[in-house]
Amino acid sequence: MTSIMTPFTPIPIADKQQLLIQLCEQLDDALFILDENLRYLSVNASYELIIGYNESFLLGRPLGIYAAEFLSEQEVAILNKITTYLDSDGFYENSFSITNRYGEVFDCHMSYRRIDVGHAVYYVGLVRDISSATKDKKQLIHLLSFDPLTELPNRKVFLSQTSDLLLDRSQKVVIARLNIDRYRNLASLLGSDGINHLIKNFAARIESLRLTNLSCLGHFGSDDFALLFECNDTKIVRNQLDRLIQMCERPFPIEDSPLAEHSPFFDNLPTTDSAIYCGVSIGISIFPKHDTGAAGLLIKAEKALHFIKEQGGDDICWYEDAIDEATSRRLQLETELRLAADEGQFIPYYQPKIDLTSGAITGFEALVRWQHPTRGLLTPVHFINAIITHKLSFELFFQMAIQIAKQLSSWQQQGFDQHICINADAAEFSHPDFFDMVRGLLAEHQISAQQLHIEVTESSLIKRHDNVKKQLNLLKKLGVFIALDDFGTGYASLSYLQEYPFDFIKVDKSFISNIETDRTQQAIVKTILDLAVALDMQIIAEGIENKPQRDILLAMGCQFGQGYWFGKPVPADVATEMLIQQHNN
Ligand code: C2E
Ligand code: MG
Ligand code: MG
Repeated sequence: MTSIMTPFTPIPIADKQQLLIQLCEQLDDALFILDENLRYLSVNASYELIIGYNESFLLGRPLGIYAAEFLSEQEVAILNKITTYLDSDGFYENSFSITNRYGEVFDCHMSYRRIDVGHAVYYVGLVRDISSATKDKKQLIHLLSFDPLTELPNRKVFLSQTSDLLLDRSQKVVIARLNIDRYRNLASLLGSDGINHLIKNFAARIESLRLTNLSCLGHFGSDDFALLFECNDTKIVRNQLDRLIQMCERPFPIEDSPLAEHSPFFDNLPTTDSAIYCGVSIGISIFPKHDTGAAGLLIKAEKALHFIKEQGGDDICWYEDAIDEATSRRLQLETELRLAADEGQFIPYYQPKIDLTSGAITGFEALVRWQHPTRGLLTPVHFINAIITHKLSFELFFQMAIQIAKQLSSWQQQGFDQHICINADAAEFSHPDFFDMVRGLLAEHQISAQQLHIEVTESSLIKRHDNVKKQLNLLKKLGVFIALDDFGTGYASLSYLQEYPFDFIKVDKSFISNIETDRTQQAIVKTILDLAVALDMQIIAEGIENKPQRDILLAMGCQFGQGYWFGKPVPADVATEMLIQQHNN
């Protein structure tokens, strides 16, 4: 290190030359010096190492080692380019792949400089091995362009290929978006390795179909696939997609993935011990009919896909404007429902439950109504499915349960010892706070558990078996009564009776509607009544609309009933009025 006190000694010329020579020798970059005819004059050690020839061999030989007549056209072109640039600009640089003496290929960055010393012209070349950097870059580009699991083009590449196709405006382009039905259940059943194996297998099978007119098969992650067809006849695309659907009907083998038999979804998936069957849903959009841009087409195909999935999937749906309208209505409904849940717009209406012998009100069923800010009072048919789809069931139950608990407490204070049935979708039971919430409400409002009945519909029992059973058993232990609603409308009515701890069976109104004349309905209801006696359960007939219906049910031995003939669902104050009247009579 120098200091102000130390005298400065310039480096002697001979030392400097020696220093530079040694530096060149020790450089990691390969260095070579050529004469004006591009023949080797000198190379450093790194150059010998990279190229595989030593200096003594190279001296006097032309760049590229071989005489011009042995070089490829491309090599000659590069050499000519180098000389032209060097003579005009004195500098040339480029990145090449070069093959060394042992056949190894290197990605190199090369720079050439023309240096004139006196009358002599020299060309000095510097070669930097960038193989690893290039490899990293190539890998990065690959990662950014292809799905890591299936190696298929990702959304970005798919979009750019679509845009390229759209440049040819005379050509019809069809985009299909594809999802595997019940993918989440499959993923939960198979585990991450198993589902990855299935997706790889699925993608490979689509590729092996070699679909006619298919320009690009994209994979946007999980079960999200996209197909780009260049085709003026949409019937051909339809045929190709039918082939794809048929392909899915062949079982997919499951490799080393023990089926999670305890999975709550196990019962609902078409599986054998070693194979699985995949249904698919497909949404389609067409250029130029539905959109003129790649992104717009992709979105419209996706809307068609969502639409068909909501209808149960396992089908193909071609985009149309009506789908767009339905989608925006659905989105608006979701927003409004979330607001309704936050702002407490759900209120219970009460329908009396009647003792058919005495005509007395024995309790009420609480039926939700939505006080919509602009559309007025809405019945469940307008929103209950959306509540389930958007996973707002627990919020709904919570809001209803609070109001019901307050109502029971208020009636109790007025001397009316009533019970209220609350409807619950099985989705509500899966919430971890469900049981604690019910128990807490009963305690807070000092209501006995017997005053609360919970009605579960058959249709909602198809899902989440384990959790529902656990929750129902806990509630039952607490003293809450449980009813199976809409009995006879589901797939496995009888097996539910065996599986869950019901106290009441509610016979669906579809079996009551013509019971006064229809012998089949009579026979069905009689059988259910016999079954209830054998299982020590009570029957409630739903939808009694006239006296003959009430009379025949009573004659058959049905004790409880509900229906418009006794009273429609009414607001809390009207229900209270009914209780007061009954008390006064
Ligand atoms: P549900 O629990 O089977 O309720 C009976 C439905 O039949 C009610 O329709 C009721 O108004 C109607 N009803 C009653 N008596 C008669 C009759 O004599 N004739 C006819 N034609 N209909 C009658 P609502 O209130 O529109 O409710 C429909 C369904 O929505 C309910 O069927 C229940 O499954 C569901 N729901 C209602 N409130 C709730 C709730 O708070 N939570 C959940 N998860 N579902 C609810
Ligand atoms: Mg009900
Ligand atoms: Mg019902």
